[in-house]
Amino acid sequence: MPDHPARVLKLAVFGDPIAHSRSPELHRFFAAATGLSISYERIHARADELATKLHAFIAAGGHGANITVPHKQAVMAHCDQLSARAVRAAAVNTLARSDSGWLGDNTDGAGLLLDLQDKGVELTGAAVLIIGAGGATRGIVPALLDAGVGHIVVANRSAAKAQDLVQTLADSRVVASALKPGYGETFDLLIHATAAGHHNSALPLPEILSGHPYCYDLSYGTASHNFLHWAAQHGCRHCDGLGMLVAQAAESFKLWTDQTISPELRAALFRQLQQ
Ligand code: NDP
Repeated sequence: MPDHPARVLKLAVFGDPIAHSRSPELHRFFAAATGLSISYERIHARADELATKLHAFIAAGGHGANITVPHKQAVMAHCDQLSARAVRAAAVNTLARSDSGWLGDNTDGAGLLLDLQDKGVELTGAAVLIIGAGGATRGIVPALLDAGVGHIVVANRSAAKAQDLVQTLADSRVVASALKPGYGETFDLLIHATAAGHHNSALPLPEILSGHPYCYDLSYGTASHNFLHWAAQHGCRHCDGLGMLVAQAAESFKLWTDQTISPELRAALFRQLQQ
C-alpha cells in the first residue's frame, strides 16, 4: 500500500528485449481503475547490466518491478527474500519492496490458473502435456500441481532441460520427455510454452491420438498464430496467453498496492488489449 495517497509508485519492467512489453499498458490501466498514481517504465537491461540497473532503480525510489526474459532466474541473486512459489519455480517475475529489502515472487502460475478458471477448463485429475521447459514452465507447473491435475508430461527440445526441471520439482506426478510426434496417451490440456513463435521457427507438434485437449498457448499475438492454427485444424478449443498476461499482472499489482483487481476489470483490460 502506498504510504501516502498522493505518492507516485515507481514501477518498471526489466528485460532484453523489452520494447515489445505490454506491461506498462496493463499496470497503467489497473492504476487508473483503482485511483492510484504510478509511473511504469520499460528498462532495457542486458545480463551484464541487470545488477547496475536494478540498483539505480532502487536508488531512484523504485517500489516494484516485473522481470522478464532472460532474467527470471538471475534476478533471484538480488532478492533479500523469496516467496514460496518463487522458490518452487526457481524463477522470479515480480520484485516488491518490503521493509527487509526486495521480495522476489512468481505470479505466472497464479495468472495461468485464474485464466484457465475464467475459461472453464477443468483441472482436477487432468492429464497435461506442456511443450517447453523454460522459465514460464517453471512458474506454471507447481501451480497446476496445486490445482489438482493428475499428471504432467514436460516435453522439451533439449530433453536434459526438462529432466532438470522435473528433478528440481521432485514430484512423481511430473515426468520429462524429449519432443516427439506421439506420447502414447490422451491429454486433457496441451500447453505450448516455447519461444518458437517469437523466432518464427517451426515447432514439432504432437499428433493428437484421440480426444481433443484444450490447447493453451502462453504466447500471444503473432507468436501464437502457428500453434493456434494447428489446434483449430485439429478441432480443439484453444486460446492464446493474453488472459494469463492480464491475470499475472493483476497478481503483481496486488503485491505492490494491496489492490485486488476484479474479474470484471481483468475482462475489460483483456478486451482493450484485443482491439
Ligand atoms: P525461455 O526462454 O525461458 O524458454 C524458451 C523455451 O522455448 C525453451 O524450452 C526452449 O527449448 C523452447 N524453444 C525455443 N525455440 C524453440 C524451437 N524452435 N523449437 C522448440 N522449442 C523451442 O522462455 P519462457 O519460458 O520465459 O517463455 C516461453 C513463452 O511463454 C514465450 O513465448 C513467452 O512470451 C511466453 N510467456 C507468456 C506469459 C504470459 O503471461 N502469457 C508469461 C511468461 C512467458 P530449449 O530448452 O531446447 O532451448
